[in-house]
Amino acid sequence: MPPRRRWKIAGVAMKDECRIIPIFVPHKGCPNDCIFCNQKKISGQLQEMTAEEIPQIIEAHLSTMKQDSHIEIAFYGGSFTAIDKSMQESFLKEASPYLTKNRVAQIRLSTRPDCIDQDNLQMLWKYGVRTIELGVQSMDEEVLSASCRGHDAACVYSAASLIKNMGFKLGMQTMTGLPGDTRDKSLTTARKVISMAPEIVRIYPVLVIKGTELERQYIKGNYLPQRLEEAVELCAELLKLYESNNIKVIRIGLQATANINEDSQSDVAAGPVHPAFRQLVESRLMLEKVETAIERQGLAGSPRLVIYTGVSNISNVVGQNKSNIEILKRKYAIRDIKVSPCQQLSKEVTVSAM
Ligand code: SF4
Repeated sequence: MPPRRRWKIAGVAMKDECRIIPIFVPHKGCPNDCIFCNQKKISGQLQEMTAEEIPQIIEAHLSTMKQDSHIEIAFYGGSFTAIDKSMQESFLKEASPYLTKNRVAQIRLSTRPDCIDQDNLQMLWKYGVRTIELGVQSMDEEVLSASCRGHDAACVYSAASLIKNMGFKLGMQTMTGLPGDTRDKSLTTARKVISMAPEIVRIYPVLVIKGTELERQYIKGNYLPQRLEEAVELCAELLKLYESNNIKVIRIGLQATANINEDSQSDVAAGPVHPAFRQLVESRLMLEKVETAIERQGLAGSPRLVIYTGVSNISNVVGQNKSNIEILKRKYAIRDIKVSPCQQLSKEVTVSAM
């Protein structure tokens, strides 16, 4: 029997409102060593996962969740389909009874694009897996190679089409700021990702995690991480691009944890780390929307301005520490700006002079 552990119970609420029971299989089965990766540190789980522990983890999470929530079990952290097949089955055999008893709605997992084949997909389908997230990171060959991803862009296209053709929901995880990456390459990657029609996307600006090859390159001065401002700006453009193509972006930026945070003692050596990275990105987009509205209506120089938006969007319009309000006041010489809730608006904004 493995030693009993205390599990961190943190069912993750995703952007699409479902509750996730994360089961981390750090680096299990991954044939690779990407330059930026230290899954054990990113997931905060140092020990290997065993099949016997899976029901304990699931039960512990379920006990904290409302029964009528949409709950999914997610195998994250490694490359699930690269694990020895009998081990994949032993993990799934522990998870799938929760599906047949209707205690969870779905099983999902993440994996590498070069570890997908038809036989494996059939096995995953049999056990109730319905969403597969591919770690794509970039569609640029030079970036893939500089990041030691160990696969090319062509393999992403073929994995994506196999997954979609078999009826799975497709997710794609991408990164910004990889070695050799640029703003244009990231935007091109996004366009190529859109062409494969995933239902969901995640965007992770690269963080330099201690103990990785990327950290060694950073220390030697061979890798320059993105600045926070730069990463926010690029992610805002990417978010706009995906949303305008009806693709849900369910995460932007690594989730802040006890070891992934801004503290110098954390496992992050450098990079655009922020506890509310997505909010920074959404606030940037709101700033753009308000600027466009002010300019279109010729309201620069008005003594007072009111911005109307949906209640849940007010903090994005205001920005962290009122940053958007301060920028607008300075840029348009407006003395006083108020933000008021409007039930008819959700993420839209309208402006008027007071
Ligand atoms: S494929 Fe995924 S788990 Fe494997 S080294 Fe790369 S990032 Fe880490």
